[in-house]
Amino acid sequence: MKKILISPSKYVQDNGALANLGEYVLAFGKKALLVASKDDQSRVQHILDEATNKCDFELIYGGFNLECTTEEVQRLININNENSCDVIIGLGGGKALDTAKAVSHSKELPVITIPTIASTDAPCSSLSVVYNAKGEFQEYRFYRSNPDLVLVDTGIISKAPTRFLIAGMGDALSTYFEARACERAFADNIPGGKSTKLAVAAAKLCYETLLEDSLKAIAASESNCVTQALENIIEANTLLSGMGFESSGLAAAHAIHNGLTALEETHKFFHGEKVAFGTLVHLVLENAPKSELDEVLSYCKSVGLPTCLGDLGVNVITDEKVRAVAELSCAENETIHNMPFKVTSDDVFAAIYTADKLGR
Ligand SMILES: [Zn+2]
Repeated sequence: MKKILISPSKYVQDNGALANLGEYVLAFGKKALLVASKDDQSRVQHILDEATNKCDFELIYGGFNLECTTEEVQRLININNENSCDVIIGLGGGKALDTAKAVSHSKELPVITIPTIASTDAPCSSLSVVYNAKGEFQEYRFYRSNPDLVLVDTGIISKAPTRFLIAGMGDALSTYFEARACERAFADNIPGGKSTKLAVAAAKLCYETLLEDSLKAIAASESNCVTQALENIIEANTLLSGMGFESSGLAAAHAIHNGLTALEETHKFFHGEKVAFGTLVHLVLENAPKSELDEVLSYCKSVGLPTCLGDLGVNVITDEKVRAVAELSCAENETIHNMPFKVTSDDVFAAIYTADKLGR
């Protein structure tokens, strides 16, 4: 059986890590293109200034217009072409990092991802999620390699709004259940192999860490403090979930997330918030044990993750809307077909209504 494990080349997590950016950039060259929104950049500008003062390297500020679209990737490629940078840096949330990965891939340049929030598992992965200009899911783009460096400054993440951290818990929550479904189905993971024991263990450890440390980490984040529990959750949301989903595969939960983007009301909610509800639908689909469903439901409620459509802004629920989500979830290339049994849009339609009822 062909098993494949992929991961970033290097993962560095520390309180204050960004101030040493120069030493990491210089491993690749002297000039770096920074993909970061104005807001994210200004949050850390003083640290970037400290880093450029400490080390002899140049940062080209490329900006970021908040959505990972084909047009935005091309705009940044043009900036890179004018400046001949040696390395691309993505700084911010998942969309900025995904955009930086897309730019680096097209130019065959190394990429450093610097998450300033722990809201998704995008920093470690070798793919980008591309949206259209209206904010709807368009496609996954897969790359030849994972980021060359993931640089995680826990001090910066501790000062971000706690809702981001909780959204990251939602994204990480699905990892184990999707990994388990793929393992049962002998489905392929993202790089097209079967799961290694290491990847499945990472996914399981991710879930266990969430159950143990989430509430403690939320308290630390609300106090803008770095504690061991917060460090553990940042690692779970970023590294364990990233390695877990990529090397042990995605299944229903993320497909349902993608389906939910068909509803305009859900657009203002974060990826991980939709994935949390997708996880409940996933568990209903596979008729998971009641104890497990109860554990996940009470976990979501305890940390403040959505458990029903109303929590995702869908206040008027109609068959048409649920049908639209179910059909998009079951699109031909969707990961829902990695479940260990055949899933139809009728099954998803029923599971969405049922999960919504259970979660209310
Ligand atoms: Zn995700």
